[in-house]
Amino acid sequence: MGEDMTSKRTSLVQAGMGDDPAYKSVSPPIYLSSTYCFDTITQKGKYDYGRTANPNRDELAETLTLLENGSSCVVTSSGMSAIDLVTNLFNADALIFAPNDCYAGTHRLLSNRAEQGRLKVKFIDFLDVKEVSEAFKEKPALVMLESPSNPLMRLVDIQEISKLAKSVGALVAVDNTFLSPVRQRPLDLGADFSIHSTTKYLNGHSDVVGGAIISKKEDHGNQLAWWANCLGITGSPFDSFMTLRGMRTLHARMDAQESSAMKVAQFLYNHPKISKVYYPGLPSDPGYNLCKKQQSGPGAMISFEVIGGFNSAKSVIENLKIFQLAPSLGGVESLISYPPTMTHGGMSETLRRDAGIKENLLRISIGLESSEDIIQDLSASFALI
Ligand code: PLP
Repeated sequence: MGEDMTSKRTSLVQAGMGDDPAYKSVSPPIYLSSTYCFDTITQKGKYDYGRTANPNRDELAETLTLLENGSSCVVTSSGMSAIDLVTNLFNADALIFAPNDCYAGTHRLLSNRAEQGRLKVKFIDFLDVKEVSEAFKEKPALVMLESPSNPLMRLVDIQEISKLAKSVGALVAVDNTFLSPVRQRPLDLGADFSIHSTTKYLNGHSDVVGGAIISKKEDHGNQLAWWANCLGITGSPFDSFMTLRGMRTLHARMDAQESSAMKVAQFLYNHPKISKVYYPGLPSDPGYNLCKKQQSGPGAMISFEVIGGFNSAKSVIENLKIFQLAPSLGGVESLISYPPTMTHGGMSETLRRDAGIKENLLRISIGLESSEDIIQDLSASFALI
């Protein structure tokens, strides 16, 4: 990403700043108005109605488009509405592939839509080469990827799957929530859409729920914008302002959080009470080489398994002082979650088992606290198992 990313870093810090035509405010004003005056009955200005377009939402969309090297972006009310939005490009006969270990909300959405007959879905293990080549014979219309996956940090070769998808005429959408564009740019790797729960790293302060979908092709972007307006799922002005405000520090946050995460992952890897660590920044992780190839860093999310099953996992959580027990991620504060009952509680036991989510699995989002304090907190809690 090199120099290109350096100029993006500068553009991101200054996005929308100093453009205020009214009072020359440095920070952009928030336009809460739901409607805008027409000049005459046949002539309107740039904006007419807030669901369709809004200056704060546009500023955020333009910045995300720049960061992801896309042609346009639709900012939505949540990550889930961004994921749902892309499915509107397809008819009921279209087959959609999604990872068998995807975020449980994505799994719930796609499987229930399929049950209603609104689309067809097949959940597959994208790391199983044989399963993938068999599956592609069914000619999917859309391939959804999530890399790294939630919660097992499994990486999928976006470039390889995109090539395969193109060969059967399928489009590719990648959920880039766990990394953000400062660590991975799916459109550069051949995908057609990059999707975010902006709730996470992009906003970064655990005070907005939002989403975004960036398209590579203008035509797709126009269709998505049409559907978002039609469905009424565009993001609010205030949330858009907050998200762009949070994004100004995205590079600095990710650099610091990732650097701490690397130290924490090494600590976990060497700890006798930890039986497995899922973090693609560790040479022992199956995704290590792919991480070097398609990401500019491993990010700040780690999952691990403690020895002793459910009771040990419960004890670790109950004895931590710095980590808060909450299902989200990507904020400035460190969070811990228990995937079997929290993020993935909606999945059946069988589906969880198939996805590799065990009862001793914990997922942590490393925040901006001192890495020494974070490691000390984990260490003290492990001592009580
Ligand atoms: N995608 C991933 C990978 C997630 O982790 C989440 C939420 O945790 C979502 C999508 C959904 O985002 P939201 O909660 O903003 O709707």
